[in-house]
Amino acid sequence: MKLPYAEPYRIKTVEMIRRSTTDERKRWIREARYNLFNLKSDYVFIDLLTDSGTNAMSDRQWAEIMTGDESYAGARSYYKLKERVEEILGMPYFLPTHQGRAAENVLFSALLKEGDIVPGNAHFDTTKGHIEFRKARAVDCTIDEAFDTTVSHPFKGNIDLEKLETVLKSNSTEKIPLVILTVTCNSAGGQPVSMRNIRETAELCRRYKVPLFFDAARFAENAYFIKVREEGYSSKSIKEIVREMFSHVDGFTMSAKKDAIANIGGMVGFRDEELKKKASVFNIMFEGYLTYGGLAGRDLGALAQGLDESTEFDYLESRIGQVAYLGEKCKALGIPVQEPFGGHAVFVDAKRFFPHIPQAEYTAQLLAVELYIEGGVRGVEIGTLLADRDPETGKDRYPKLELLRLAIPRRVYTNNHMDYTAAALGNVFERRESIKNGLKIVKEAPILRHFTMELERL
Ligand SMILES: *Cc1c(COP(=O)(O)O)cnc(C)c1O
Repeated sequence: MKLPYAEPYRIKTVEMIRRSTTDERKRWIREARYNLFNLKSDYVFIDLLTDSGTNAMSDRQWAEIMTGDESYAGARSYYKLKERVEEILGMPYFLPTHQGRAAENVLFSALLKEGDIVPGNAHFDTTKGHIEFRKARAVDCTIDEAFDTTVSHPFKGNIDLEKLETVLKSNSTEKIPLVILTVTCNSAGGQPVSMRNIRETAELCRRYKVPLFFDAARFAENAYFIKVREEGYSSKSIKEIVREMFSHVDGFTMSAKKDAIANIGGMVGFRDEELKKKASVFNIMFEGYLTYGGLAGRDLGALAQGLDESTEFDYLESRIGQVAYLGEKCKALGIPVQEPFGGHAVFVDAKRFFPHIPQAEYTAQLLAVELYIEGGVRGVEIGTLLADRDPETGKDRYPKLELLRLAIPRRVYTNNHMDYTAAALGNVFERRESIKNGLKIVKEAPILRHFTMELERL
């Protein structure tokens, strides 16, 4: 008999989670104003809100927590991280930050000015937020296939080189301080970017003398997809692929709460020492001294160890395999999911799930609410609420994709939890026609509104 797949780790510590009743959940979600960010985590049975900072650290990472050096300057833990950044990412300079958006803040403070344009592949929401906050504009150049959940493409995160060249050609490059390539592309569904696309994007950027940066939150998951999907990479190690990926860029921002398997942390990396020096001023102002950047010494150590673990094939196979496991379960129940499955989450196509609910009634948010009521599973809307209003017209922007994201924390849940989640979603799918109306907004903030907004049932 062929041996079944089994995780390459065993569990040393467990955390109890609480089941609840449907009636309790109906009350709690109403009290939370139909915004799942407002729920107490104790009211959630399986939390698939995000894979950000929700990771289970390894025994070796916990050892780093215990042995962290808390010196203000020049801590041992900082040098441990510096070594790993050089060795694994091949990047000579970096600044630690307290998380990914802080890295964006530091980098953009050094590079961006009002009226600038930042092309990329479906910029992440905080990235877009930081760009628009500076009265600059994010231009999405992702390939069209990314926005059709029914077509299969191995690298749906790719940049459309023609779209990018049009932007580069039709603007003075003084207005384009950088291009950002998000690996994997979170907003397009955790979809990877091929090495070929990274290389060709880098060549194009070089031709126009515009620096290329990675938003590297899920760089290791991206490397896994290159290994298993792109010709010429199957016999390369993940670490070799990661080095090659980073060899094409001028720098990166990273949320260490994702692929560094840490609970907090981030960094911004540079090839150019001058730019690092320029950014250092903002790092000291917003984050902290250059060798800790808003983190404790122990966090730097855990992050350094996490970088090493997440760039191992066995870990990634188990991680991405679990995402595909949930995806296949949903698919078997007839639930419309984005394919191929991404690296960190399963994305349910809410427009196809609820074809009778208009996008103006926040279809994906409705699905998130119904799934929570059904089984205490918390997912998140990646759709109209997240897209925010158009800063010029003040009107809702309707993105092509209206998705419910079920993000899986790293090394946290078992496949029984995945079975439970698929079954709960299946139950909502069965009763979908009995759900007649969506939601409306009662209160919202001017930017990044999805975190704090309040809604009502129509
Ligand atoms: C999470 C994330 C960020 C922001 O990082 P935080 O640590 O949440 O501040 C930026 N880009 C991408 C692609 C992300 O997934």
